[in-house]
Amino acid sequence: MGGEAVSRFWREIPQRYNLIGTKCKVCNRIYFPQREVCPFCRRKSIGKMEEVKLSGRGKIVTYTIIHVPPKKFEGQAPYAVAVVELEEGVRVTSQIVDCNLDKIKIGMEVEATFRRIQDDGWTGAIYYGYKFRPVEKHEDKK
Ligand SMILES: [Zn+2]
Repeated sequence: MGGEAVSRFWREIPQRYNLIGTKCKVCNRIYFPQREVCPFCRRKSIGKMEEVKLSGRGKIVTYTIIHVPPKKFEGQAPYAVAVVELEEGVRVTSQIVDCNLDKIKIGMEVEATFRRIQDDGWTGAIYYGYKFRPVEKHEDKK
């Protein structure tokens, strides 16, 4: 990894380890991934979009089990991909981890967790991103 790649990596961490969306201060809608302009308020929202940290907690709206993955995810199958509705009302599509596939249910509470997604063998870069895991077993310890 060259110096340039390292500094880029560290700069990206705050965004990657938090779910940061944008909120339109005109209509209070929240977007994730971030948007520069609110599609409802359009020109009125310019300069009125602010970053908001999302809780990372939500519920599974729907899911599918992937048996035949894209080539770069080979070896991980089968795995579950779900649409998760966050507490803020934003929907994100993400892999579900730390859960037996037959335990996944619609309405299940999940939270974001940051994981290594993929190694890029060509450049040596490692990509991280968010995935979701069930909430229940972590709350048992409290
Ligand atoms: Zn708006």
